[in-house]
Amino acid sequence: MPPRNPRAALAAAAQRFTFSATPRLDAELLLAHALGITRERLLLTLGDWQVPDTFNALVERRAAQEPIAYLTGTRAFWTIDLHVAPGVLVPRADSETLIEAAVAHFEGTAGPRRVLDLGTGSGALLLAALAQWPHASGVGIDASPAALGIARDNAERLGMAARAEMMAGDWTGTGEAFDLVLCNPPYIEVDAALPAEVREWEPASALFAGADGLDDYRRLAPLLPAQIAAGGVACVEIGSTQGAAVTALFEAIGLRVTVRRDLAGLDRCLVVTP
Ligand code: GLN
Repeated sequence: MPPRNPRAALAAAAQRFTFSATPRLDAELLLAHALGITRERLLLTLGDWQVPDTFNALVERRAAQEPIAYLTGTRAFWTIDLHVAPGVLVPRADSETLIEAAVAHFEGTAGPRRVLDLGTGSGALLLAALAQWPHASGVGIDASPAALGIARDNAERLGMAARAEMMAGDWTGTGEAFDLVLCNPPYIEVDAALPAEVREWEPASALFAGADGLDDYRRLAPLLPAQIAAGGVACVEIGSTQGAAVTALFEAIGLRVTVRRDLAGLDRCLVVTP
């Protein structure tokens, strides 16, 4: 019988999450989710609760290395909370670097009016930008029907459905120039070593981009000049070792590129202007 006492249950669960960098935090998030309260409230009132049966099922799933965000169904990104589920990449804090870059580009202006998110997934980048600039509207494009469903649901939940159009599509271009283009494409080498949590649970179509991880950048590069409006910018996520290679791809078609680092000090975002 798994423990009913919250302290014992958290300790027992955390012991099973040896693969995780944050076993105790994972256990706390799952117990808070099972109780329908925030982690902060759980920690302040730990002794007041009985562990519900639903916690045990969540612990089993986490022990199989399923991402916490799929288990709780939610992940915070920039200033918004997104619904996430298997079928979309879990939004990462690293990707907030793209929004920071956009904020820096538009500082002292009224901000972008039209925003494009290529490969929108859960809608994270587009919806974060629309939260940042309440007068903006935009388009999110994704090839995955499952992702589009989740992105539309997020736009609804955030009250942004009228400003966010989610469209099926591949890297083909939209025929409109946008003030802000956001893109977190797949960029992992197919045989890269990845945690099981990522490789076995997150969508391969959102992660992998050929032998050198650059396939999608090669396809995106020729689209960008026509997608970026005059005075606009594209903020494109890269893997931390890809700055020079992707900069060369974009400069070869006449774009101007600077590299921006994430909070870990790693190259993370190309800031691209026509
Ligand atoms: N940053 C993600 C990871 O390291 C990869 C996301 C991507 O390929 N766009 O797992």
